[in-house]
Amino acid sequence: MDGQKLFLFDFDGVIVDGMNEYWHSSLLACEKYLNSPDIQIKQNLYKKVSNTFKEIRPFVKYGWEMIIIVHEIIKIENPLDKNNKKNFINKYHLNCQKILDDNSWLAEDLQKFLDESRKYQIDKDFEMWVNLHKPFDEVIAFMEKLKQQKIKTGIITTKGKIFATKILEKLNIFPEFIFGYESGTKTEIAKELDKKYEILGFIEDRIKTLIDIKQNPDTKSIPCFLADWGYLKESDRSSLTKDIRLLKLRNLEDLLAISK
Ligand SMILES: [Mg+2]
Repeated sequence: MDGQKLFLFDFDGVIVDGMNEYWHSSLLACEKYLNSPDIQIKQNLYKKVSNTFKEIRPFVKYGWEMIIIVHEIIKIENPLDKNNKKNFINKYHLNCQKILDDNSWLAEDLQKFLDESRKYQIDKDFEMWVNLHKPFDEVIAFMEKLKQQKIKTGIITTKGKIFATKILEKLNIFPEFIFGYESGTKTEIAKELDKKYEILGFIEDRIKTLIDIKQNPDTKSIPCFLADWGYLKESDRSSLTKDIRLLKLRNLEDLLAISK
């Protein structure tokens, strides 16, 4: 370790609120690439994010799962809605897998469709696409302050790296590293970074990811913070262990004190 200090951030739900974009891009992926006989895309669907989608989003780990969720919500017969949402959530991963199997889809293909949908929008109207993301201003300001203190910042996301990079450039944020889903699991990435840097913290809104980091002997010393402003499940706040701290936007600046 050369003693360089580093702060790590998740991207979606931590640096930006991309709910409009997730809905928009997943819907467009369904319309343009999925070729499913079970759905019919009416253009007014693009206008408003489905509440069911918003409620299920905290369960999402990888982008391709969002295509499945949107597909189920817009299905002509027996759509996913507030009435059967609980059943879907209770066996979330099993249900995603079952839908893949029933339709003979591969997760990798769906991820490609999502990436294609994003590329299509970027080529067509970059400003429109990028404006579907709302930054959390307090986080942007915090990253600026870290930079002033010569603390490096790194982003670990399950998004494609190219898309996170484009949004960050627009926000004038240039972190030392951006790792996308192409780079492996977050624990693996954190383990490698931990060899070279003194990691001051990792802010993430998916509790399972933080638990994985805390349970791995190679990464358990990394201070972990659950982003209260992100896409949290109702149960996340109450199921916190003492080694994972709940962080509120207004308390971000307190972390500057511990980084001294
Ligand atoms: Mg997140």
